[in-house]
Amino acid sequence: MKIAIIGIGSVGSAVATAVQKTGLANEIVLFDRDGIRARAAAEDLGHASAFSYDIKITSVSNYRAIRGSEIVIIAAGANQKVGETRTDLLYKNASVITDIIPKVMDNVDSKNVKIIIVTNPLDVMVMLAQKLSKLPSTRVIGTGTMLDSARLKIILSRQLGVSARSINSYVLGEHGDSSVVNWSSVNIGGLTLDDFCKQTKISLPQTTRKTIEHRVRNAAYEIIQGRGATWDGIGAAVADLLHAIIHDEKRILTTSIVDGIGKSAVAMSMPRIIGNKGVLMNLKTKLSTDESNALRKSAKIIRKNFDLL
Ligand code: NAD
Repeated sequence: MKIAIIGIGSVGSAVATAVQKTGLANEIVLFDRDGIRARAAAEDLGHASAFSYDIKITSVSNYRAIRGSEIVIIAAGANQKVGETRTDLLYKNASVITDIIPKVMDNVDSKNVKIIIVTNPLDVMVMLAQKLSKLPSTRVIGTGTMLDSARLKIILSRQLGVSARSINSYVLGEHGDSSVVNWSSVNIGGLTLDDFCKQTKISLPQTTRKTIEHRVRNAAYEIIQGRGATWDGIGAAVADLLHAIIHDEKRILTTSIVDGIGKSAVAMSMPRIIGNKGVLMNLKTKLSTDESNALRKSAKIIRKNFDLL
C-alpha cells in the first residue's frame, strides 16, 4: 500500500509518524512546497524505521512521484495562530486546496483513490476538494470531528471514572466552533448516560455538560496557546481512519463528507461506516430537538462559508 502525504508541517509529520509506527503502509511519499522540509522529514522518519517497520519513506519534488498512491492525505496549508479561528484560514487554505487537488488528480487512479482532508476549515475544504476532484463524495473524506469525539471521550472518561474504550460518544457537525455534542446517543458499556450516572451515583447536571462542551470546543485553542499548534491528536486520528479504510473494518467514525445535492449540499460530520471503498454508509443518530437545531445551524455556517469562495 502506497500512501502520499501532501504538506509536511507539524500535522503531516505527525501523520507520517503515526503511519510508520503502526506499519499501515509499506511506502509513504511526502510532498511539501518546501522541498527542504519534506526531505528532512523523510530522512528523520527513515531513521526511525530502524526501530519499527521496514517502510520506504521518500520525499518527492513533483506530483508524478505520487503515482500509485491509493490514499492521499492533504495536511497542507496555514494553521491557526493564537487568537485565530479555523474559519479565519478560509481564503488562504482554499487557494492551497485549489493548487493541490488538480495536481493530485492528474497523477492518481480516479477510480480507486481516497483523499483524506485534514486542512482547516475542514468541512469547507472537503467541499472544495470534492468539487475540484470530481470524485464520488464517499472517497473525499475529512477527519471531521473524529478528534473532537476523541476529546469528548477522554473528558467523559476522566469525569466518569471509566475507560474511554467503554464509551461511545460523538461530536457532530462542523469541526469548529459550531460543533454539536450528541448527548442523546452517549452509550457507556451498553447503558445510556443517565442510566450509567444513576447506577454509579455520579451527577452530570446541565451545567457540567455545558462545561464539557466548552472544553471540547476549546481544546485546540488551549493547545495552540501552549504549544503553537496541535499535531499528536490529529496524527492518531488520521492513522485510525487509515486503519479503518485499509483493513476494511466497517467501523463507525464521525467523518465529514459532502451530503445532499445542489445548494443544499454540505460537508459535516456524522457517524459513517468506513471501509476500503471509503464511506460505505451514512448513519442517522438519535438527536434531541436542541441537537437537531444546533446541527442545522452548523450546516448553515459551513454552507455560507463555502458560498463565500
Ligand atoms: P504547518 O504550517 O506546520 O505546515 C503546513 C505545511 O503545508 C507547510 O510545510 C507548508 O510548506 C505546506 N504547504 C502550504 N501550502 C502548500 C501547497 N500549496 N502545496 C504543498 N505544501 C504546502 O501547519 P500544520 O500545523 O501542519 O497544519 C496543517 C493544517 O492542518 C492546517 O490547516 C491546520 O489548521 C490543520 N489541522 C487540522 C486538524 C483537524 O482536526 N482537521 C488538526 C490540526 C491541524
